[in-house]
Amino acid sequence: MTWNAAKPINFFATVPDFEHVLELRMGRALPEAFRERLVSFGERVATEIEPAVVVLERHREFPQLRPYDEFGQRIDEIEFHPANDIAAAAAWGSGMLATALDAEGAFQLAAQFLLLSYVGEGGQACPIVCTIGLRRALEHHASEELKNRYLALLANDDADEALRGAQFLTEVQGGSDVGANVVAASPDPTILGAWRISGEKWFCSVADADLFAVTARPLTSPPGTRGLGCFVVPRLLDGAPNGFRLRRLKDKLGTRALASGEIDFDNALAWPIGELENGFKIAVSELLNTSRWLNAVGSTGIMCRSYFEASSFARHRQAFGVTINTFAAVRAQLALMKSEAVAALSSTFALTAFVSRIDEGTASEADVAIHRFLVNANKYVTSVAASDVVHRAIEVLGGNGTIEDFSALPRLYRDAVVFESWEGTHNVLCAQVRRDCVRLGLLEPVEVWVHELLAPINAAPDARHVIEEALEALRPGLERSLTDDAYAETSFRDHLTSLMTIIQASCLLGEAQYSSSGEKTALARLFIERHLATPRPFEEPGWHAYVGDALGCDV
Ligand SMILES: Cc1cc2nc3c(=O)[nH]c(=O)nc-3n(C[C@H](O)[C@H](O)[C@H](O)COP(=O)(O)OP(=O)(O)OC[C@H]3O[C@@H](n4cnc5c(N)ncnc54)[C@H](O)[C@@H]3O)c2cc1C
Repeated sequence: MTWNAAKPINFFATVPDFEHVLELRMGRALPEAFRERLVSFGERVATEIEPAVVVLERHREFPQLRPYDEFGQRIDEIEFHPANDIAAAAAWGSGMLATALDAEGAFQLAAQFLLLSYVGEGGQACPIVCTIGLRRALEHHASEELKNRYLALLANDDADEALRGAQFLTEVQGGSDVGANVVAASPDPTILGAWRISGEKWFCSVADADLFAVTARPLTSPPGTRGLGCFVVPRLLDGAPNGFRLRRLKDKLGTRALASGEIDFDNALAWPIGELENGFKIAVSELLNTSRWLNAVGSTGIMCRSYFEASSFARHRQAFGVTINTFAAVRAQLALMKSEAVAALSSTFALTAFVSRIDEGTASEADVAIHRFLVNANKYVTSVAASDVVHRAIEVLGGNGTIEDFSALPRLYRDAVVFESWEGTHNVLCAQVRRDCVRLGLLEPVEVWVHELLAPINAAPDARHVIEEALEALRPGLERSLTDDAYAETSFRDHLTSLMTIIQASCLLGEAQYSSSGEKTALARLFIERHLATPRPFEEPGWHAYVGDALGCDV
């Protein structure tokens, strides 16, 4: 079909306004080497990783557990189809794992990860996220000995030599309630500084990893999250499994090329990452915050890919003697999808700017507070939006949208649902944000930031006005939901969703201010109209023009 023939061999160019967004958030021109890296990886994702992932999905070539070797020895290994190695070589070879923890590194990582997410999970994204999270935890908290032992190998960009990380917090009695963890840790009686871990972890993705980051409770520790240590557990000791059994691999809705298992630990040798009493803090600030940030990048990638598939399909598909991109209803649907994708791109790269400043060591107190708010709230809203956008893309493709070998959309749809639950469910993230707002007063710096975002905007004063009014209208309810527990139960999540919409709209409109085309303004208007304005704030004749400007030459 001409549609497939017309598809690009490089995904980089299909991310709407990507270079401009990166430059604005980085505050400088995109360095040529950075740009070349994205161009090169965008091509590898389209031409190497995508076909490899298609092979895995088409024939259901998912990871298999091999508990025993040919002699009946327990090995607890996982076998992958060779196509997985092709995808891994390209993903690791991109240098993503080796990016520096500095101002530019955060942007490089996020930009490349977004391109990787175009193919869905594909078995590579989760290991990359977990490896980076573990590397950050070790870099910031581990003893020199552990750093020397593992850091360089975790940052190696050769997929065959590199160590992969995993992070196991969830236990069968509950994932959200990490404080209920019962996996136990006790000091090793013979090896100074070493510990032994015993118990069951219920959701263990990257079950093939070389190093597991595991939360466990020292026997004398208090209950709840305060009593959790964070440990690194090497997979092998002298070539044999280090005190663990892989009970089974999970048969999942999405992210199926990724090995997720249930693991029983029995006296596994472990090393604490940082102070034991800071274990939960380290797990959240390094592991989960990395995953939540990159989960949002992944959700954004899913949205950009979905929009690309739907818009390019609409240019080719004929119905009633015309291409479907001429139907106003299809165009409106596409414009809505694009506005959601660019809103996610905008808030997620605004978040990346905070990560970058924290990594660089130049973050102010306000930056740290806004990061803390955004990393949770943005994960929540972008993952919800991703499922919605893929769903809409499937609708644009009609029946073909549901067919596995017709496009990537069914795979992306399954993955998007998983993205919604892992690294924190919606309710749990909202509850976390509320606690932080109450305890740490995060709302104030966030509001100041929103006003800073809006202050320079004069290109679309009516749109800016709608945002300001929405913020004013939201304030009483939002403030009440911080002091009134009963009211918060039914309202805080809605209020947080509205606040995030305001933030995304402000980020988008801010980008539009510095854009030479009217496309970003039109996308911002559509986003604002959908979420913030009742009744419709923009005049009817203008509506079609906004849709046309928003779509640009995509359809
Ligand atoms: C494919 C996949 C891979 C995974 N891989 C890993 C992994 O590698 N490592 C790991 O540690 N975990 C992993 N997880 C687990 C994931 O992090 C958990 O599923 C998630 O944290 C939710 O925990 P739960 O499933 O136990 O749900 P529960 O905690 O039982 O929650 C069930 C429901 O109750 C709601 N709820 C819970 N508490 C509250 C509350 N206080 N207020 C309001 N509502 C609440 C939740 O929002 C949710 O809707 C994975 C999950 C999936 C699906």
